[in-house]
Amino acid sequence: MGKKSVLVTGGAGYIGSHTVRLLNAEGYQVVVLDSLVYGHRDAVIDPSVELVIGAVGDRDLLTRLFEEHQFVGVIHFAAYAYVGESVNDPLKYYRNNTAEPLTLLEVMSAFECRSFVFSSTCATYGEPERLPLTEDHPQKPVSPYGKSKLMVEWILDDCDVAWDLKSAALRYFNASGCSTDGLIGEDHQPETHLIPLVLQAVKGEIPEITVFGTDYPTDDGTCIRDYIHVEDLASAHLLALKHLIAGGDSVRCNLGTGVGISVKEIIDIATEVTGKQVPVKFGDRRPGDPAHLVADPRLAKEILGWEATRKDARSMIETAWQWMSKPHGGRFPS
Ligand code: UDP
Repeated sequence: MGKKSVLVTGGAGYIGSHTVRLLNAEGYQVVVLDSLVYGHRDAVIDPSVELVIGAVGDRDLLTRLFEEHQFVGVIHFAAYAYVGESVNDPLKYYRNNTAEPLTLLEVMSAFECRSFVFSSTCATYGEPERLPLTEDHPQKPVSPYGKSKLMVEWILDDCDVAWDLKSAALRYFNASGCSTDGLIGEDHQPETHLIPLVLQAVKGEIPEITVFGTDYPTDDGTCIRDYIHVEDLASAHLLALKHLIAGGDSVRCNLGTGVGISVKEIIDIATEVTGKQVPVKFGDRRPGDPAHLVADPRLAKEILGWEATRKDARSMIETAWQWMSKPHGGRFPS
């Protein structure tokens, strides 16, 4: 029997590229569709993976790809993910994250491809009313980014009713870490995430890490987040795809560890892992940051059989440090 083909949009991005490697290792024929606006050509390292450069809203290109391959499913990562930018330029986010996937879904419908794994986010919940966050928590996103993702969840619900599209909307908490073998990793330009910025400060690439707020109602006054290793995220996508292909129902689930870690704790662990002082500046709160976000990850275990294998932030920081300590400094050549 031939390999099963999967289309992965945004497969040259951070979480996408780690998932592509896992799918490839598991014997899937992977076709990556990526605009390379934020993705990296060199993040797609397996020679048997086909990299197609293009947009999710390009109907002719998608039609050609669906004619050439019998995709058993689509994993859709391609999106913009800068929360602050989404506040200043919401239409960019609604265009790219919400409107463009309509074309992809229309082409899937035309080709009767009915399994869709979607990168959603804990940002769809907004300010938590209770913790840990369960999937039935009200979804009241505060940023255009969170809204742009939630709208896709709604669209997927409606497609399920209308043409039996089965979807897994995976609500990520804080994706972090890099591949264990050090071959690929996180390379965002610009970088806004805590762990890579802390490590850039250690390396002297930026003068210091600014802690956004020390007066939160948490034990040490800094924000608490649920950091989930990117390879654990990758394995959740594989399991979600298998669940859908096997005829499973649509699912919306959190991907997190269930463990909350503060900004100060991240800095302490980074000091231990690198053996170097982290230059720190204490600053004001960043608008829109909830004090405390942590997942209840039980549903993903129940439905997908998925559970995070690394629950402390140490291995996230170790693998990120390994990647950033390479001669390329954690930057893909292209
Ligand atoms: N953070 C910080 N300084 C930075 C970047 C982030 O103190 O330069 C904090 C931020 O307030 C949040 C946590 O680190 O509490 C994680 O932020 P990140 O941007 O990595 O992810 P987010 O939780 O916003 O998705």
